[in-house]
Amino acid sequence: MNTLIDPFGRQISYLRLAVTDRCNLRCQYCMPEKGIDIVPRQELLTFKEMYRITRVLSELGVNKIRLTGGEPFVRKDFIGLVKSLSHNDRLDQINITTNGALVKDHISALEQLKVKSINLSIDSLQPEKFLRITRRDQFARVWEAYLELLKSSLQLKLNVVVQSGFNTDEIVDFVKLTEKEDISVRFIEEMPFNGKGLREVKENWDFNKILNHIGGSYDQFDPVESGKSSTSRNYRVKGYKGSFGIIPAFTRTICNDCNRIRITATGLFKNCLFDDGVFDLKEVLRSGASDDELKQVFIDTVSKKPRNGFEAEANRTIGGVSESMSTIGG
Ligand code: SF4
Repeated sequence: MNTLIDPFGRQISYLRLAVTDRCNLRCQYCMPEKGIDIVPRQELLTFKEMYRITRVLSELGVNKIRLTGGEPFVRKDFIGLVKSLSHNDRLDQINITTNGALVKDHISALEQLKVKSINLSIDSLQPEKFLRITRRDQFARVWEAYLELLKSSLQLKLNVVVQSGFNTDEIVDFVKLTEKEDISVRFIEEMPFNGKGLREVKENWDFNKILNHIGGSYDQFDPVESGKSSTSRNYRVKGYKGSFGIIPAFTRTICNDCNRIRITATGLFKNCLFDDGVFDLKEVLRSGASDDELKQVFIDTVSKKPRNGFEAEANRTIGGVSESMSTIGG
């Protein structure tokens, strides 16, 4: 079996696939209050195309997929896509990132499928702060979903984007959730994928600042073994059931073992989060390419994957990073 190896010997085995650019929240670190110019429906990949792309990539060694958005559950019959992907024997893991506002009613169906983990994006434990960050009054629904997910058989991770001036006062509250719950809370550095570009902030909450801040409240926490290509550096407070982690997404100290590629909801192939897209997969698909032709395109494209996110950003042709994360999928 051919596999996807990049110029630095990294094997690509993880696809992050965005199923829509639509979202029911308006998080300040992801898009402007007015939202983004969503694309016409026919510009979105169909579920059939997504299934085919995943099958062909799985024949090249991709065995893990994360379904993202926008908000994946906003797309009609999203569960249908998850069902079809669950039939792909080459996939070991199907994971989903959601903002939780629509997931509650689908939890029992997801438990029947090949879904291993749910990443719940929640940046505040306070309803009014949640409203300020997301510009939508959906805290109660998201919290209900959190409580239901805790009871489910699905692995649960919380994604918390650490935003200077918004939620840094809640970092320790989030860590406290791991005392009694076997969940993983991951703190993510804020990035400029917000429709405007790098936000001016008083304090730069990067990996070290977040870790030191937690160290100010806990004097005993131990590193937790994280998989080779894990994006998160994980720790467990002594005696706590769960763990917390920090994802240096903007300081980009995780690139050496990067095993990821991304495909946006419109079919843009990205070798790295920070590049501006390397080819239009939708055009190749809709021009009648065979599976073998598709495989060759994937192999050729991964052979140009940049060493790290800084190189990817430097090679951009459409200007600095500012596009909304809702158009990429995280
Ligand atoms: S910044 Fe790019 S190279 Fe680095 S981990 Fe992210 S996707 Fe991989």
